[in-house]
Amino acid sequence: MTSLRRIPRAEHHVSRSMISSGTLKTLYTLKDAGYEAYMVGGGVRDLLAGLEPKDFDVATNAHPEQVKPLFRSCRLVGRRFVICHVRFGDEIVETTTFRGAITDLHKRDETGRILSDNVYGTLEEDAIRRDFTVNALYYDIRDYSIVDFTTGIEDMKSGVIRLIGDPELRYREDPVRMLRAIRIANKLHFRIDEATAAPIARLAPLLREIPAARLFDEVLKLLLSKEAEDNLYGMRVYGLFRQLFPVLDPHLARPENLAFVNAALRSTAQRMQSGLPVSPAFLYASLLWPAVEARAAQLRVEQGCEPLPAMQQAGEEVIARTIACVAIPKRFSLPMRDIWDLQPRFEQTAATRARRLMTHPKFRAAYDFLLVRGESSGNPALAELAAWWTEAQKGGDLPEPPDLSPDDLLVEAGTSEAAPPRKRRRRRGGRNRRGPDAAGDSEADGPETATDPS
Ligand code: ATP
Ligand code: MG
Repeated sequence: MTSLRRIPRAEHHVSRSMISSGTLKTLYTLKDAGYEAYMVGGGVRDLLAGLEPKDFDVATNAHPEQVKPLFRSCRLVGRRFVICHVRFGDEIVETTTFRGAITDLHKRDETGRILSDNVYGTLEEDAIRRDFTVNALYYDIRDYSIVDFTTGIEDMKSGVIRLIGDPELRYREDPVRMLRAIRIANKLHFRIDEATAAPIARLAPLLREIPAARLFDEVLKLLLSKEAEDNLYGMRVYGLFRQLFPVLDPHLARPENLAFVNAALRSTAQRMQSGLPVSPAFLYASLLWPAVEARAAQLRVEQGCEPLPAMQQAGEEVIARTIACVAIPKRFSLPMRDIWDLQPRFEQTAATRARRLMTHPKFRAAYDFLLVRGESSGNPALAELAAWWTEAQKGGDLPEPPDLSPDDLLVEAGTSEAAPPRKRRRRRGGRNRRGPDAAGDSEADGPETATDPS
């Protein structure tokens, strides 16, 4: 059951100055043509929460063919449910006709997922089709009031993410809502309501039904974000990550691997906050690295592969297994593989090779990657190698090569504490890289890695 509540302009702080000019033009144009028009979704939610919205969405009772002639640039997109993309310069305002209530007319698959979605409806029907109560608030351009059919305003105030309707049914209709719950809760620093959270762990396997390309987009939204670390944590706690990245998940049981991935997510988030460009390739290269690194080590140790072919084969295998669940477009997987393949080449510090490596088009990204590895791995040999490359780029003579053996940089091939301990290798003579506090036996400190210089 829904009941309409209208919050007048005087009782909320969403003002037109906070709304993009394209959104306002779209709303007024629709209104002036005699249609209902509302700003809805993340735009209203984020403004109420004092955040800057990523984008604004408009909902209207005008059908797409009625919307199109009102605007100079309007493209109809989508096959199942047509959406209007109204363009003003660089800004695109997604304008959607009210969706109708779910009925037997909607085709579902055997798990309950909605497959057809092409029925128009009323404002109220549109509201209860939305996912969370805080996403179903409508800013009315006629009087600047906010319309709430669920408990959206209340949940905004108490900081709760709550699915509209029966949670299990709503997750079955669209399992991506499980990922959205985590992302939006972390973005707003809200908690997920108990009934909304309860079915997630059990229903997590439904993510396997979702097209890999859609999951790629959703994962990027989760991990190319200020809250990326929290989102990774949330996905793991609720058992969603395991469904998305079965190849990677067991590797994150090792603290050093989790530390590396988190460091990469943090570094990406910091770049975003400083307005620097971020690349999905770097992000995905980091995310999958623990699996690639372990597999490459295994190929080196067990099959005697040379470092570069081992890395190439490991990269190929891990990508092939990942894209069975989450797509990675070629334009990202190719630079990812460059970043990985360059990692063993950093071990070669002889002058000619080092200088040649610095001219490689992907050197910068690969070096940034090495820095994150050096900072987060807890392996002093790796930190030393990264520091050498930092020095080496300063021009003039190359610094003296670090005294490392290839095994100093090789990780344990296994995935978690279950990995069998490897025989320790005696280092070549030279400096003792362990600090005074590392005098104890490291085997007692957690899973042993071959990177542990002893
Ligand atoms: P953000 O833009 O910050 O990622 P958002 O909530 O605006 O968050 P969008 O993907 O832009 O996300 O969707 C806009 C609105 O469309 C949502 O607020 C919600 O009302 C509705 N919506 C989006 N995805 C779903 C879904 N899977 N099920 C039901 N409603 C959805
Ligand atoms: Mg949005």
